[in-house]
Amino acid sequence: MMPLDNTNSRTSNLRVNRNILLIAIVVAIISVSGLTYFAALYLYQQAQVQTEVTTRNLARSIEQNISEVVGSIDQALLNTSDEFARQQSTGKINDHQLNLFMQRQLRRHEHLAYILATNERGDVVYGSDVLTTRNNIADRDYFIALRDNSDADVLLTRLLLGRIYKKWVWIFVRRLNKQDGRFAGVVFAGIFADKLGESFSKYQLDRGDSIVLRDADLGIIARQVFGRDNTFLPTDKTISEAFRQALKSSPMGATYASGASSIDGVNRTHSFRRNEKYGFIVNVGVSGEHEFLQWRRLALIGLVLVGFFVIAASAFAWLLLRSWYAHERNLDGVLVSQRALAESEEKFHSLFCSMSEGVALHRLIRNLDGKAIDYEIIEVNPSFVAQTGLSRELVVGKSASQVYNLEVAPFLDKYVRVAEGGEAIQFEECFEQLEKDFLIHVSSPKLDHFATVFEDITERKKWQKSQSENLQKLELQYQQIVKLQEQLMLQVLRDPLTGLHNRRFMDEALMKELARAKRENYSLSLIMLDLDFFKRVNDTYGHAVGDQVLITLSKHLRAHARESDIVCRYGGEEFLVAMPHMTPEQAFRKIDSLRQIIAQTPVMYGSIPISITISAGVASFPENGDDIDALLRLADNAMYQSKHDGRNRVSLSK
Ligand code: GH3
Ligand code: MG
Ligand code: MG
Repeated sequence: MMPLDNTNSRTSNLRVNRNILLIAIVVAIISVSGLTYFAALYLYQQAQVQTEVTTRNLARSIEQNISEVVGSIDQALLNTSDEFARQQSTGKINDHQLNLFMQRQLRRHEHLAYILATNERGDVVYGSDVLTTRNNIADRDYFIALRDNSDADVLLTRLLLGRIYKKWVWIFVRRLNKQDGRFAGVVFAGIFADKLGESFSKYQLDRGDSIVLRDADLGIIARQVFGRDNTFLPTDKTISEAFRQALKSSPMGATYASGASSIDGVNRTHSFRRNEKYGFIVNVGVSGEHEFLQWRRLALIGLVLVGFFVIAASAFAWLLLRSWYAHERNLDGVLVSQRALAESEEKFHSLFCSMSEGVALHRLIRNLDGKAIDYEIIEVNPSFVAQTGLSRELVVGKSASQVYNLEVAPFLDKYVRVAEGGEAIQFEECFEQLEKDFLIHVSSPKLDHFATVFEDITERKKWQKSQSENLQKLELQYQQIVKLQEQLMLQVLRDPLTGLHNRRFMDEALMKELARAKRENYSLSLIMLDLDFFKRVNDTYGHAVGDQVLITLSKHLRAHARESDIVCRYGGEEFLVAMPHMTPEQAFRKIDSLRQIIAQTPVMYGSIPISITISAGVASFPENGDDIDALLRLADNAMYQSKHDGRNRVSLSK
């Protein structure tokens, strides 16, 4: 059997291992998830930085491009004002020449819609297509601003709805001076806002990305949102809060993330740059949709991989746990049954040791042919030791033939039958050496094994023996009592010497006989007999011979009596015979013939014949009376009459 402690420690070891493995799996899941999370975060930040760099570079490059365009337009304005100044110095403005000059300027700039100039009153008088545009711009802010400021540099307007082309136009203006420096008008060039917006499309940004150009006062000049509707409110100064904050902290340029745009609701990373010279602002926004596309793909792959890992690890843990629990349950079951086994073993052992019956466990010993030839004593209990007087060391592990010093182990045949057949038996055996009787129970717990339980029944046997002896005695006593009773009965009713009825019997019987004779009306004769000179026999031959004579006489009487006759020894050597249905004469004849037989038949004493005679008297009912006592007296009297008349005779009552 596996020791309990061992199983216990195995179970707890298993639990510790299981917990360690579970913790390891959980830690692995957390680690992988955490690492993936941080990797994703890192990549996200990288993507953000990358996006910021991209937008910043883009904003710078667009700002520079526009700056170049604006610079070249400004150059055209400068060239025109120079040409105007040169012609003035000649004393006269050659309209045609100036117009041609301005047309040349216009042709150099693909973006430019027109280049025009006014006189000091604001009439558009010179220009690329001056003839078609008879107009006055004296009311325009920029005209007024330049007219009133002789030192004014180039001026960039907000977006205006052009009077000439009825289109939104961004206008660049320079002041024209007369030779003395007085105001001579303005030269101005315009760019169509839509053309400008379209020109942004060459940057080929992703869908949802935006490029916005604002004037120095933040009014929109052009806006391009890729892949989207590009209608916008020109001159709109609305900006997002994020943009406002960024402008406030770094007015010349910064990168910021907007929330959902106020215009189109798209999330973007923005970079803006303000042009140092002209004050316009370029704001590039890269849509959240694309900026993290790569990151999102990676994150998704990471998520899927982590998901797979978590599922696989969980499934692994689950399977492991399940098999573990099953294993543990098995172990628990084993533990429980082991405990139960240990308990029952303990119980069995204490029972085994405390039993008053001697118990021995055996195993058959077989020879090479498989025949059981002996049995080994495996274990014995203290009672066995006490009963047999053999020490445990002397018997355990030994063969029975060796222990009991016999050629064939005791009861081998019986034991073999039980150990092979499995059916328990019991038998009683007297061990004379031990002076004890045992009831031996034999049972077989498994093949070739058997247990013997020796129940000491010596006391019981003794008791049984004494009981049967008592019974026998009682039987004997009973028989004796019966015999005594019979004897007593004989003594009471019969004469012991002759076996004839006695006088007590005769007294009773006579009453009945007489009553019957009276009732049935028939004769009843009574004969009284007495041996003659019997005293002499006794005296001559001894009392014993006298007895023999009495016996002989009684035999004669019985031999000659009828069934219905009653013969009794009435006294020492007196006899009474009652003869129903006998008249006095019949009785007389009968007794007289008997008298003769007796007289002729001597009793032999050795070779000596002893002659005996009798004297008798007869009295009868109804002839002589109807009273027993009277009849007896009469018979007695008749008998004495015979004695008196010479003996050896019979007399009838008178
Ligand atoms: P009689 O002819 O007058 O009758 O003479 P008897 O000798 O018979 O005298 P009696 O009748 O007076 O004597 C009876 C004798 O019988 C006396 C006694 O010793 C003897 N007797 C009585 N009973 C027994 C008995 O049981 N056995 C023997 N052996 N003798 C007996
Ligand atoms: Mg007598
Ligand atoms: Mg006599």
